[in-house]
Amino acid sequence: MDFENPHFWMPVPAPEGRRHAFRGRRWDGSPALESACGSTLPLATPSEMDWIQCPTCWYCWNVLLEQAPEPEDTCAGCPHDSGRRGPESIRAEIERSDTP
Ligand SMILES: [Zn+2]
Repeated sequence: MDFENPHFWMPVPAPEGRRHAFRGRRWDGSPALESACGSTLPLATPSEMDWIQCPTCWYCWNVLLEQAPEPEDTCAGCPHDSGRRGPESIRAEIERSDTP
């Protein structure tokens, strides 16, 4: 994905009815733009109701999440395997801390 920052969110009117992410700082008034999820969508000035009613497009959301800077791996060098803890090890830890 080559979706760059900055981006902005815009509700796309019916029949789309979802809020998508687009390139740029703000809508430049273009009648159609390509969203983060790769569809070219017609844009119109959204009403307040559009903002309230349109659910976020999760595909766009995920695209932008993947582009977010990686959080620092605080588990580097800790005894847990690659910082990932399965339910087993978490349960073991809870049981251990419960025991006086
Ligand atoms: Zn989208």
